[in-house]
Amino acid sequence: MTKIAFIGLGNMGLPMAKNLLSAGHEVHAFDLSEETVAKAVAAGAIAAKSVISCLDDVEVVVSMVPAGPHVKSLYLGDKGIIENAGKDTLFIDCSTIDVATAREVNTAATKAGFDMVDAPVSGGVGGAETGTLTFMVGGSEQAFNRAKPILDVMGGRIIHTGGAGNGEAAKICNNMLLAISMIGSSEIFTLGRKLGLDDQVLFDVASTSSGRCWSLDTYCPVPGPVPTSPANNDYKAGFAVDMMLKDLRLAKVAADDTGANTPLGALSEQLYTQLSESGHGGLDFSGVFQMLDEKL
Ligand code: NAD
Repeated sequence: MTKIAFIGLGNMGLPMAKNLLSAGHEVHAFDLSEETVAKAVAAGAIAAKSVISCLDDVEVVVSMVPAGPHVKSLYLGDKGIIENAGKDTLFIDCSTIDVATAREVNTAATKAGFDMVDAPVSGGVGGAETGTLTFMVGGSEQAFNRAKPILDVMGGRIIHTGGAGNGEAAKICNNMLLAISMIGSSEIFTLGRKLGLDDQVLFDVASTSSGRCWSLDTYCPVPGPVPTSPANNDYKAGFAVDMMLKDLRLAKVAADDTGANTPLGALSEQLYTQLSESGHGGLDFSGVFQMLDEKL
């Protein structure tokens, strides 16, 4: 049994914390929302009134908050985790944030003598509930080896992607490709329809030919060919447009910072911005097909 502080118990954090509790760990829960903490307490967690009180006597801190500024404010400064955690506490930040912030916070933690990993996830709320998330983990070998047994409880695949920030780097690179391949998969149906091709026939060809990819063969953006895809459920998310847009913006910042040439990533960010700004941010990200097919 490990004593764990869990900070940020929203859509993802709560089911992740529940899996830690089910595995017999002691979870001290803190969130800015008292209602959210109450849900964790109902599942067996111990309520904490502040970040600092959450840290009392724990061996591991797991954080799952929205974005880079939240992570910075949690870890840095006088009232932050780094200043107030006990010796040898391990820090695991599972939030999806920008690479630069992940590296800045890791550097501060390491300087203060702590092990820390950035461990963003893929798999969504469903994966968090079933404990089958994929964790992409950046940090030292030692930090990774310490984090792995905790991550194993919440995930199905735990991949060490390199040094600090490389978990975030892998996550945003993967999601940039996901956006590009979803737009590409959508475009073949918009063109195919104009050319008189039946959706199912085009799917049967492309999903078994060199154009095949996950966005097409598992998450097809047109209704019909893949019964489980959100296209058959009025494009209800799934993975929302606004979540994809967040990740594309992180990819764009990273590309700008490093001078990487990612024109399709940049164009994807523009298309998802257009979709979000037209009031469809809550739609599944495969709904980009509807925009391209002039239905939105
Ligand atoms: P959420 O908004 O549901 O939950 C975030 C929680 O963090 C909220 O309860 C909020 O009150 C809390 N919080 C914010 N700042 C805090 C602070 N300083 N101290 C304590 N609590 C604080 O978000 P979510 O959907 O659970 O996503 C969390 C992270 O996981 C995000 O970075 C997101 O991009 C990433 N992610 C989400 C999904 C998904 O499907 N929801 C999938 C993969 C990755």
